[in-house]
Amino acid sequence: MHMKVLKFGGTSVGSAERIRNVARLVTDAGRNVVVLSAMSGTTNTLVEISDYLHKKNIPGAQETLNSLRSKYDAVVEELYDNAEIAERVSHELERTFSFISHLMENEFTHAEEKEVLARGELMSTALMQGYLEQCGVRCGMLPALDYMRTAQGGEPDIRYITTHLRRMIDLEPDVDLWLTQGYICRNAYGEVNNLRRGGSDYSASIIGAVLNAEEIQIWTDIDGMHTGDPRFVENTRPVSNLHFEEAAELAYFGAKILHPTCVLPAKLHNIPVRLLNTMDPSAPGTLIANFPPDGTIKAVAAKDDITAIKIKSGRMLLAYGFLYKVFETFDKYNTAIDMMATSEVGVSVTVDNTEHLADIVDELKNFGTVTVESDMVIICVVGDLEWDDSSDFQARTLDALRGVPVRMISYGGSNYNISVLVRAADKVRALNMLNQHLF
Ligand code: ASP
Ligand code: MG
Repeated sequence: MHMKVLKFGGTSVGSAERIRNVARLVTDAGRNVVVLSAMSGTTNTLVEISDYLHKKNIPGAQETLNSLRSKYDAVVEELYDNAEIAERVSHELERTFSFISHLMENEFTHAEEKEVLARGELMSTALMQGYLEQCGVRCGMLPALDYMRTAQGGEPDIRYITTHLRRMIDLEPDVDLWLTQGYICRNAYGEVNNLRRGGSDYSASIIGAVLNAEEIQIWTDIDGMHTGDPRFVENTRPVSNLHFEEAAELAYFGAKILHPTCVLPAKLHNIPVRLLNTMDPSAPGTLIANFPPDGTIKAVAAKDDITAIKIKSGRMLLAYGFLYKVFETFDKYNTAIDMMATSEVGVSVTVDNTEHLADIVDELKNFGTVTVESDMVIICVVGDLEWDDSSDFQARTLDALRGVPVRMISYGGSNYNISVLVRAADKVRALNMLNQHLF
């Protein structure tokens, strides 16, 4: 379909003023599908309320709900001058507050928790719909709970989503734009669920894919993906073009701007993703697409809270089946390995999920001598890094890191990244040295 998908994150709709700003942006952009997240802080607050309800701390839940309500009351107060619309939106929001209040009376279930978490996005679209109406914009509502669905394995049910979403759009052809919620969905049994925290980007990408959109735009507060993380690195600059593979590595390895799951549907359907800035809408941002190889380093990202585990084989040389047993152990505890390095006598791997670390280490001791180091960081240099080209990226990367102790090095898993593991204490220094040398 000839349209774009525009997704706005929590801070972009975080106040009456920001909502007005987004309304202006989407109205100017034409007949597109607009995907909204919950207002910033809302999903966290809903998680907090759920936590109180699970703990049967009703006053805690009530107090948190009251403060959420007053935040929304203030937004309604500021956003609308049409009394009738204000009244209608308030009424709509009130459904959320009374729904949560009712839950305080009985046992709180996990299914109800999912319903609570879904309210944030529903409130965002209610606020936006009312405001667009006040501006005279005809806005078609596409309730995500009516089309966004996961299949048995938890993956999006693309066939279901495609038929339902397309039908809903066809039923409302005479509108200026369509509005929908990110993040929320139903599972294979029809129960309310979500695509996990930060999942609105994923929603946008799935919607773009099933509609065969022209482009998926992810609007945030920064002018695209930067060469480094501006929170830690000086003199970063936006990267104008990224290949899907490069974007996937960056998203996974800590660039907060794009959720890692978002890249896949767009990549599979070859739909360009553009990262744009609501504070500076005319800035070019970052375009993610199937660009031809260009042999350049694009950016550096870091992933925190990494634990390294070294297993030295009991025998001198790596016995046949050793790696298999090591991987099987991690698999058994549903723990994903991020990075690995091997030698003839042992293997080092890293994990970010340490929930089952004690059990894993205990079992690994059957196969070798085990050492664990925590407080590590993976630093990941991303770009079009063909091993046999002339850009010398390996030497340049290691050269940039002169003086920083490097615990592990990994390249060759893909042609898009070279990863090094350093101490968390060395992270900021290492990132700045890389930024200086590589860009
Ligand atoms: N509101 C959800 C969250 O905070 C989804 C999102 O913002 O992408 O996780
Ligand atoms: Mg987000």
